[in-house]
Amino acid sequence: MSATTAPPTGPAPGTPSAVGVPVDTHCPYCALQCGMSLRPGTSAGAQAADAGASVEVVERTAFDVNRGALCGKGRTAPALLSSGVRLTGPLVRRHPGGGLEPASWEEALDRVAAGLSGVRTAHGPDAVGVFGGGGLTNEKAYLLGKFARLVLGTSQIDYNGRFCMSSAAAAHNRAFGLDRGLPFPLADVARTGCVILVGSNPAETMPPALRYFTELRERGGKLVVIDPRRTRTAEHADLHLAPRPGTDLALALGMLHLVVAEGRVDEEFVAARTTGWPAARAAAMAHWPELVERITGVPVPALREAVAMFCDAGSSMVLTARGPEQQSKGTDTVGAWINLCLATGRAGRPLSGYGCLTGQGNGQGGREHGQKADQLPGYRRLDDPAAREHVARVWGVEPEVLPGPGRSAYELLDALGTDGGPRALLLSGSNPVVSAPHAAHVEERIASLDFLAVCDVVLSETAELADVVLPVAQWAEETGTVTSLEGRVLLRRRAVAAPPGVRTDLEVLNALAARLGWEKGFPTDPEEVFDELRRASAGGPADYSGITYRRIAEEDGVFWPCPEAPAGEGTDVPGPVPAPGPVPHPGTPRLFLDRFATPDGRARFVPVTHRPSAEEPDAGHPLLLTTGRVLAQYQSGAQTRRVAELNDAAPGPFVQLHPRLAERIGVAEGEPVAVVSRRGRAVAPARITPGIRPDTVFMPFHWPGAGRANTLTNPALDPTSRMPEFKVCAVRVERADGDG
Ligand code: SF4
Repeated sequence: MSATTAPPTGPAPGTPSAVGVPVDTHCPYCALQCGMSLRPGTSAGAQAADAGASVEVVERTAFDVNRGALCGKGRTAPALLSSGVRLTGPLVRRHPGGGLEPASWEEALDRVAAGLSGVRTAHGPDAVGVFGGGGLTNEKAYLLGKFARLVLGTSQIDYNGRFCMSSAAAAHNRAFGLDRGLPFPLADVARTGCVILVGSNPAETMPPALRYFTELRERGGKLVVIDPRRTRTAEHADLHLAPRPGTDLALALGMLHLVVAEGRVDEEFVAARTTGWPAARAAAMAHWPELVERITGVPVPALREAVAMFCDAGSSMVLTARGPEQQSKGTDTVGAWINLCLATGRAGRPLSGYGCLTGQGNGQGGREHGQKADQLPGYRRLDDPAAREHVARVWGVEPEVLPGPGRSAYELLDALGTDGGPRALLLSGSNPVVSAPHAAHVEERIASLDFLAVCDVVLSETAELADVVLPVAQWAEETGTVTSLEGRVLLRRRAVAAPPGVRTDLEVLNALAARLGWEKGFPTDPEEVFDELRRASAGGPADYSGITYRRIAEEDGVFWPCPEAPAGEGTDVPGPVPAPGPVPHPGTPRLFLDRFATPDGRARFVPVTHRPSAEEPDAGHPLLLTTGRVLAQYQSGAQTRRVAELNDAAPGPFVQLHPRLAERIGVAEGEPVAVVSRRGRAVAPARITPGIRPDTVFMPFHWPGAGRANTLTNPALDPTSRMPEFKVCAVRVERADGDG
């Protein structure tokens, strides 16, 4: 049952609110999905249904995750609704090499349909690609996947969520048979005994979540933070370990070694609820503490202290984020932390377990409903005949019509414009020119396309390269569901009307599908799309069939899986979702308490061993670069860089470096520093702090131009998750005299 306290307020989904009446909804940005209320039309004479009506954020304390607290990003989100920088009409490039010009919707949609179908006719369906985003609602992600596979017939679809936490998802599936970011509500974090937070900085990325860690410590629990930098989060920790970037796999193995050596294995749990321990144990025993100290730089006594904190607490958790995940060995790194949890009996029990703090607003739901290269709705596998059969029946086609798995996000971007790769691309809710690794190369590949169409709210750096730009509605202007980092399906409600020149993504897909011969099957009403998604997900790992808009509104969120009917009673048939039975499924706030989602119900240890990052330092590039986010900006910054208050707080990139390194290269605070990797050079002002390892530099990745951090990053991919290695690459730094 949802931990809700009071039902949300507002009009029926899809209806703009009356002037001055607050509408309960959620933030457009990160996966915490803070609850907020929007009070529309509060300026003199404004009507809620008017385009550009002012919107005020008001506290929504009844939503238990954030209890009214918001970070600056959420608080200022409405600034973009009526901003002069947002797109309010389609743009087309009528002449090669010419600029983008205003156009009617008819012309723009005709051009997109012709651009996609022309390339498909000339070069085959896989010459057309689709690139989605982890910020799209469940309804958009679902319909985008259906559009790609049915209307375009292409296998070439993936999304930027691949860059978010695909390694954690892969490790989750491998060990537990199911991937949900947190297998428990966030509130459990405050009530456990010890949390090890690996490569996560919630004090900057999701500040309202920090209260759970504060409460944990107030109750006597321990917080261990593992991060190469002394972040704002690390300052709250009882113990901060700062390993060399790319070595946290070894760190986890060293801790598991000590668990075995100190007799701390929960033998009863291992015997009753897991498989594969002997091989995982042997792998850990090859990583003795002194070796791990040499690899990671973390002293053995600190390693022992972390083990003691974790094991002496009656219950404990490991939470990872992008640090361990965005590596070419991200799946194994997360797997090593999961092994630590399993060996100590810290999984599948109350207040214990492994979880991932998902990043993007709908990073969880976005990967469950079909915009990922290898998945069908309901977290079904595209290569599973039964899954294909089920979804094909819901879509009213034969299973053979569905293409097979396609390329992962970076591989898709890398293949654009090449022989055998997509030559036309439809892109929605993503800005890979800033956010993809090896970004100059990605920019080049995008520019080489025969045709590019972009749906966005602003003219992002990627949209600037498009042949057609379609302006779409923002979060407060449309209704839809998202799934938070807790696996809780939430309802964002429409509070104001979109400007007249703007359409919703669902309307865009409907219009394009109609032009390409699909008059039916692409509804514009989000609730209708959600009801179809429920049927498509029924019986799948991420089963939403028992979740309705009404239930979400009444319960303030429902945790999946939530099947509609008892097993075997009509969940696997197309057609209307059966009427709710007398006792609806309550949803599943906590997973794995009785059994794991594997065929035998046992969690699987996977033996993993440390290996170097894809790129290690050498004489030419003797340092390591790691990248991340800052408090006032979000992802590629396409939205937050256009909000004055946020831009004032974080106006540009910087290079964080240790005083000893700064002294060695002769750079003072604020002076320009060049960071050079094997892929390029970026220049930004120095920010000197002792809170970073002397062998490491850090750059935030929100900005384009000379300070674009992703010019430098390494696209080496994890073999399982296909996650690029954003977090580690070899660089040199030097004074940037003359670079500005
Ligand atoms: Fe929005 Fe995330 Fe900030 Fe909450 S923490 S207000 S969800 S950006």
